[in-house]
Amino acid sequence: MTSDKTALVAGGAGFIGSHLVERLLGEGAKVVVLDNLQTGRLVNLAHLRTKAGLKIVTADVIDDLPPEVSNTRFTHIYNLACAASPPHYQVDPEHTMLTNVVGTRNLLRLAERTGARFLQTSTSEVYGDPEVHPQREEYRGWVSCTGPRACYDEGKRAAEALIFDFDRLGRADVRVVRIFNTYGPRMDPCDGRVVSNVICQAISGNPLTIYGDGSQTRSFCYVDDLVDGIERLMAFEGPQPGPVNLGNPNELTVSDLVERVLALAGSGNEVAYLPLPTDDPRRRKPDISLAASLLGWEPRVDLQAGLEATMSYFQQELSDEATRAAH
Ligand code: NAD
Ligand code: UDP
Repeated sequence: MTSDKTALVAGGAGFIGSHLVERLLGEGAKVVVLDNLQTGRLVNLAHLRTKAGLKIVTADVIDDLPPEVSNTRFTHIYNLACAASPPHYQVDPEHTMLTNVVGTRNLLRLAERTGARFLQTSTSEVYGDPEVHPQREEYRGWVSCTGPRACYDEGKRAAEALIFDFDRLGRADVRVVRIFNTYGPRMDPCDGRVVSNVICQAISGNPLTIYGDGSQTRSFCYVDDLVDGIERLMAFEGPQPGPVNLGNPNELTVSDLVERVLALAGSGNEVAYLPLPTDDPRRRKPDISLAASLLGWEPRVDLQAGLEATMSYFQQELSDEATRAAH
């Protein structure tokens, strides 16, 4: 398949980015990945390296864009550059904020210069610890601007402000998805998010960690469904529709998730209760009626099938790691 699409995927070596790159290459697009490898891994793209049309540039999106990027006439720019897991984005909060604000500005200016359509991966974190449930795009959120999650949440909110200013001023053609918790193969085993943590713990025979009492809820979307939604919004030709929620509305508690993983692993591991992190949102569930009506999108992979695929991936990943460690 060929395509006249030339895409930049910032953050393309990460979990979601690598799935997007795979899909774009499958459609025949030329793809440049820009990634500083902070949380991304080249191994996520290893199976694609022999494909014609893929170029990987290691650089930080907050710096001046390297010539391989700034001299390419992109038709589409996807901004996924930003660590997504709280323990990772909190290591260097200043860098996280700059990634969201300066990095997004750099890519928006590139879009302005090349005429590329720009898509931002925003987040359900813009709703903070929501008082409205489920969350619709109109809800303005309840976010702490002083807490340990603020570098990410407020950084993503500032990025949205900048993006919609570029839109209002006619400087760029923009699309924004607000992603709710997404999981699947190619998550980093050390990512620190609940799905990767508890599956890896179940496989390795360690206690499964629940932060707080486990009654907080999340809604988990399988990565293939998410990438499908991203591509549908990128291809959407109507008037700029504002931010669009993408997520799976199947809400469950963290304790429910842990039980599902234990049942799947067939293991009798213990559960360890650890303190709830500061500002951890109590509830999270997307209202996806806008994505459904605008894009005809809804998630197709149910939690059981998604967890099975993710567990198979981690079984392989952890056994490869053990083999490497033994040599
Ligand atoms: P990830 O950490 O696996 O991927 C992020 C990628 O961005 C990594 O490859 C990392 O090395 C790269 N990166 C980070 N800072 C960078 C910088 N300054 N310059 C260049 N590259 C940089 O995370 P993910 O889960 O794949 O998330 C991808 C995007 O989706 C992120 O923007 C995240 O905020 C957003 N998102 C993800 C989720 C989720 O549940 N996974 C939810 C909401 C939003
Ligand atoms: N969590 C947990 N055990 C873990 C990791 C996370 O109970 O090992 C909790 C976390 O406190 C949060 C939920 O699971 O309430 C989802 O956390 P994650 O980091 O996956 O996503 P986010 O908090 O960004 O939605």
